[in-house]
Amino acid sequence: MPQLFILAVALSVVISIIMVVFTIANHTVEKSLYLILLTVGDLFFSFGNLLEITAPTLETAFYGVRVQYLGAPLLVPLAYLFFRDFYGKKRFSARRHVLIFSIPVVSMVSLQLYPLVRLHYSHIWYSTNGQIASIQHTDGIVYLLGVALNYICIVLGLSLILSHIRNGSKVQRRQSFILLLSCLAPLASNFSFVFFRGRQSYDFTPIAYVSALAVFLYSALTQNLLNVLPLARAQVIDGLEDAFIICDSDFHFLDANQSAKRLFPQLACMVSGESLEGVQGFKPEGETLIWKDGEARRYKITANPVLQGTISNGICIVFRDVTVERHLLDDLHRQATTDALTGVYNRGTFFDYARQTFAKGGGREALALLMIDVDHFKQVNDTYGHPCGDAVLKTIAQAARAHFRKSDLVGRYGGEEFAILLEDLSSQQAVETAEQFRRTIEELRIAYRDRIIRVAVSIGVAHCPAARRLLLEELLNQADAAMYLSKAGGRNRTSLYRGDKPVV
Ligand code: GH3
Ligand code: MG
Ligand code: MG
Repeated sequence: MPQLFILAVALSVVISIIMVVFTIANHTVEKSLYLILLTVGDLFFSFGNLLEITAPTLETAFYGVRVQYLGAPLLVPLAYLFFRDFYGKKRFSARRHVLIFSIPVVSMVSLQLYPLVRLHYSHIWYSTNGQIASIQHTDGIVYLLGVALNYICIVLGLSLILSHIRNGSKVQRRQSFILLLSCLAPLASNFSFVFFRGRQSYDFTPIAYVSALAVFLYSALTQNLLNVLPLARAQVIDGLEDAFIICDSDFHFLDANQSAKRLFPQLACMVSGESLEGVQGFKPEGETLIWKDGEARRYKITANPVLQGTISNGICIVFRDVTVERHLLDDLHRQATTDALTGVYNRGTFFDYARQTFAKGGGREALALLMIDVDHFKQVNDTYGHPCGDAVLKTIAQAARAHFRKSDLVGRYGGEEFAILLEDLSSQQAVETAEQFRRTIEELRIAYRDRIIRVAVSIGVAHCPAARRLLLEELLNQADAAMYLSKAGGRNRTSLYRGDKPVV
């Protein structure tokens, strides 16, 4: 049995060496400094232990203890920091690193220097059962502080793992479970060493540490554990302006970059596995308006699967600020579709939309077309100047927009001519609304500089009942003919085209 124990410790030293080489050299595992240090620490621990248990004297055994302590005090804090990396938690600041490693470093140093050793072990003695040697001790203050720090890290680390087992996605649960399993052996041997010291002849802790790490690395390699959630958070992604949110296929939060946390402050305090449904303003696709820094900004949302080979392991949702592009596009669209002077649809757009209206609904709705021409407009220009004529056209267009319904199409057909397409009205209703508009214009007092200008319009109305379909061009010709009838009848009036000839 003693030989078997020595053999197991020796084997764990060999495995530690392999793991150190593996973590440093292997590129399929996402590299973590903590993981590499953990394997190096494990090597010191197991090798020192081998020296201790095979030592013939107190001096040589204590030499082994010193080697162990080059790694042992770091192992639990390093494991905790590695877990944080594993779950994509933000790395601690330099100050926190100093804080967390101060006790282990004091422990390592004090054990190497003779007078300081008392801080660590107030008393030591050599014990052996003939084949297995060990250093027994009474605890010094630094030793006790080290034990306390380890237990704090154990509690923090375990709660991190357990919270992901409880709330995490399927993938995370599987990973966390493997992580928990690999912690159990070192935990059990650590407890038994601390609480049953002196009553057990063998200390299995170094073997447990090495085997746990080996099990973890093996699972990481065979199941691609470490590649699913990258160990080191991608710094580049944090610096990007686009907001990135990584979640599983059920929209459970996994990770987010800084831009995403600024856009959705709730993400900052979210733990992995929490549903993104509760995040205000979040949606996984399309476009959305989000208030940011006091202004409404438009975001385009794209969702891409996070692929591992051909298997989707989650979704990466990207929010791109497209506010400026949208404004530019809206401006371009407005410029292309509206008349610059009056702001109503230009002739081309009026025709496009009018054609769509004609095509839709299979002709089930009645349509009316109004052709409006300003009377003696040339005189306005001639008397008051062209800019005044422009102001009059603008006012008439404004009045048209105010008078007709939102759903009616108002377009500038030509110089001082406007065309209006009205849906779902009888011919009588169309004539009535045209007549009301004519009166509105007649009553307008248009102030230009120090003058008041009054104008009138002649209107032609063409109607297409629901059952009968005409071509848009035919309806336009009819409205035009009716409008000329209004002109011929003395202007400032409305005429309806009925049958083959327009009637007033
Ligand atoms: P009628 O009652 O027969 O319609 O007489 P009218 O003077 O309104 O008709 P005519 O076709 O002779 O003149 C239309 C005028 O509209 C001629 C043109 O200079 C003017 N016009 C066309 N577009 C604009 C514009 O954008 N701004 C200004 N100020 N005038 C315009
Ligand atoms: Mg005209
Ligand atoms: Mg005219």
